[in-house]
Amino acid sequence: MSEIIDIPAEIAADATPMMAQYLAIKRAHADCLLFYRMGDFYEMFFDDAVQAAAALDIALTKRGRHAGEEIPMCGVPVVSHEAYLMRLIRKGFRVAVCEQTESPAEAKKRGAKSVVERAVIRVVTPGTLTEESLLDSRSHNYLAALAEAQGGLGLAWLDLSTGDFAVQAVGAKSVAAAVARLAPGELLLSERLLGQTALMESLADWKRSFTPQPSARFDSDNGRKRLENFYGVAALDGFGSFSRAELAAAGALIDYVELTQKGKLPRLSPLSRLGEGALMEIDAATRRNLELTETLAGERKGSLLATIDRTVSGAGARLLAGMLAAPLTDPAEIDRRLDHVDYFVERPSLRDHMRDSLRRCPDIARALSRLTLGRGGPRDLAAIGNGLAEIPALRGALLQEGLDGIPELVKRTARDLGEHATLVDRLGRALADDLPLLARDGSFIRAGYHEGLDELRAWRDESRQKIAALQAHYAEISGIASLKVKHNNVLGYYIEVPPKQAERMGEPFIHRQTIASSVRYATVELGELEDRIRSAADKALALELELFADLSGEVLARIEEIARAASALAGLDVATSLALLAAERRFCRPVLEDGTAFDIKGGRHPVVEAAIEGSFVANDCNLENQQRLWLITGPNMAGKSTFLRQNAVIAILAQMGSFVPADSARIGIVDRLFSRVGAADDLARGRSTFMVEMVETAAILNQSGPRALVILDEIGRGTATYDGLSIAWAVVEHLHETNRCRALFATHYHELTALTAKLPSLSCHCMRVKEWQGEVVFLHEVAKGAADRSYGIHVARLAGLPPAVLSRAESVLHTLEKSGGGQHTKKLVDDLPLFSAMKPAPAAPKGPSELEKAVTALNPDEMTPREALDALYRLKAIS
Ligand code: ADP
Ligand code: MG
Repeated sequence: MSEIIDIPAEIAADATPMMAQYLAIKRAHADCLLFYRMGDFYEMFFDDAVQAAAALDIALTKRGRHAGEEIPMCGVPVVSHEAYLMRLIRKGFRVAVCEQTESPAEAKKRGAKSVVERAVIRVVTPGTLTEESLLDSRSHNYLAALAEAQGGLGLAWLDLSTGDFAVQAVGAKSVAAAVARLAPGELLLSERLLGQTALMESLADWKRSFTPQPSARFDSDNGRKRLENFYGVAALDGFGSFSRAELAAAGALIDYVELTQKGKLPRLSPLSRLGEGALMEIDAATRRNLELTETLAGERKGSLLATIDRTVSGAGARLLAGMLAAPLTDPAEIDRRLDHVDYFVERPSLRDHMRDSLRRCPDIARALSRLTLGRGGPRDLAAIGNGLAEIPALRGALLQEGLDGIPELVKRTARDLGEHATLVDRLGRALADDLPLLARDGSFIRAGYHEGLDELRAWRDESRQKIAALQAHYAEISGIASLKVKHNNVLGYYIEVPPKQAERMGEPFIHRQTIASSVRYATVELGELEDRIRSAADKALALELELFADLSGEVLARIEEIARAASALAGLDVATSLALLAAERRFCRPVLEDGTAFDIKGGRHPVVEAAIEGSFVANDCNLENQQRLWLITGPNMAGKSTFLRQNAVIAILAQMGSFVPADSARIGIVDRLFSRVGAADDLARGRSTFMVEMVETAAILNQSGPRALVILDEIGRGTATYDGLSIAWAVVEHLHETNRCRALFATHYHELTALTAKLPSLSCHCMRVKEWQGEVVFLHEVAKGAADRSYGIHVARLAGLPPAVLSRAESVLHTLEKSGGGQHTKKLVDDLPLFSAMKPAPAAPKGPSELEKAVTALNPDEMTPREALDALYRLKAIS
């Protein structure tokens, strides 16, 4: 599709014809950097050039003048432009790629001064990437859109690189959690929604990904029509029934894809609708806090995903990440997934066999999407051929035991893998072993596949041989042994002799060029052979491109079957890798049910366990009705946070359909999961830590119902002691009385344990600690009852605080405990004069030392200055 470019008079009058063309195209893509194709480069001009040169750290040059000023320019080579493109996209730019749509020769036919026609063939944005080099093969890159209609919100998302496409209705309160689940590369929003401050505040984390669009693009009637057109159906009823907001969001996505892909449409899966409550809702803070896909430090390594990921293909890794981000709530559906995993837990050799085969499968889905968008190459065809080639073996192995009694998903997988023998055979015969990235580079069709092509190549090769033979012939007739036939891109084939021999070169040699080291010649015969080679090569390339189009056509004719096979392969990768994980790390199959059971025996934290290899202490957790709220006390470093998180992680793993790190697990479906840590540092996001803590706690108290699971880790820690204690106190009461959800509450406020008397479903637990030879040993065991002490000072000692500080802290603690805290700080300050802090701490206090006795005997109030000085010398002598 070419652009319709109108050139306004004022520009046309002032600019060269090429600049006028440039300006008109740029005007139509004002929000993008314009990559303007000129020969082997994409050039940028004016402000684009200034910005891009800075962002890419490349030279800013000048070209001609416009309106009296020099025009800034910079450029990137077409051959290596993807790397530059990636850096620009990462830095938040959008790039419109403008190509020459005719050859300079064609332009010349229209007149000597004609400008080569150009058009933007694609707008590259963060959410519409398809290139291997621009994408992470192991994660999805979603383009999402949020729309509002009839007071409801709709969220739609698609992955252009794989064709996934879905939509869901969201509430104003749950939209942030849904967006966090998808973590889109780009989020389209109508300008109208941008004006809704409360909504925008809840999406503040995603601001960098916003792409505002005119509100008109979010019209739900147009959305419906766009979808119907896209799928070529008269009505969408076959896909499900959608709300207006959902149609508006999904329609806006299609519109945006058409806009950025300049009319080239990808294959998208049938629009699927995520029902309300189909997923466990997990908000962004909880995801961060549980380190699901990245650690708090922002790294993938050390996250839950990295710890459980045993997949061997990009598609499998993407599916696994998607499942972890979106645990299910339907026990039957979860069971189907667990059956699939179970099947491969029980069959280790089948599992290994599958994984060997899956490891060889290239990324079919992404190759397919590039082919549909017209930017596929020979390697994409090969990826599809080689991937599908693994299928017969996989299918055969799956069906070894016959269809009876095998789990539903295994059966479905076997069916979806399908039959592709003809296509695989054709691609195998057609494609050479070494393939170029782009079809236009040629030489990708295997010899023997096409007779005409073989002939052209033979002709070319024969001519080359003739040229080689000419060298010997010319050396003979000229008598110059060092004569060579060479080739370069400027002269083509030529004959070269050293300058000293030049005088011996008569007929048939025609002088072409003299350089310092040699003299170069042509001959009529050599010219003819070269023409033959060139025309054979041109014809061969044209033929190869035709064959490429044929093969692509053949693939695209079977696109649905291939896409289905690709997702079956991904599913197989996930099931076998979860099975391997379960076997390797002794995970058990969880039991999911309705109701509010939560009974974990021998639970472990998979990440911490993997980190400390072998010595992890397993713990039970039973949040049955009479003890649905656990209060967990214990010193720092005793394992409270680990215990809390491991139970949340077990719930997530179970509901995504994985085995779990426990001896046994029975879980009533969790519809919402919350996890909060008191006073977590959130300075990076620009909010006071205590404020964040309270905002997040408010969300929990306002949103959790009886099926929620809530993890609160030291809430109230971010403020003064009594403030914090009071807030923690009230929160526990509210959770118990109003939310009535399952909850784990870790705290260092031992005072809270007094609440057990009042709250029947509150149960006190503590982390066991052993004191041994004056040292504290953490047993990492959860026991019934309350901890009696915090052992904070012991931890401080482990951390290497100076002995003077430790002994001062001990005396302060002692005084506080004696006085019961409260308004006694004044007394504390009086009783423990400041300088006692400077006393060096005895290594092992065994009664007062000589020095101490002497100091105790002194009474400074009754001393004269002279006596004081004497005393000081005496003390110095003792020490
Ligand atoms: P707390 O929250 O009580 O301060 P953490 O949960 O942060 O303690 O645990 C501190 C450290 O103790 C962890 O980093 C881990 O190395 C170790 N740890 C925690 N729980 C266990 C356990 N169950 N078994 C073995 N080590 C553990
Ligand atoms: Mg902790």
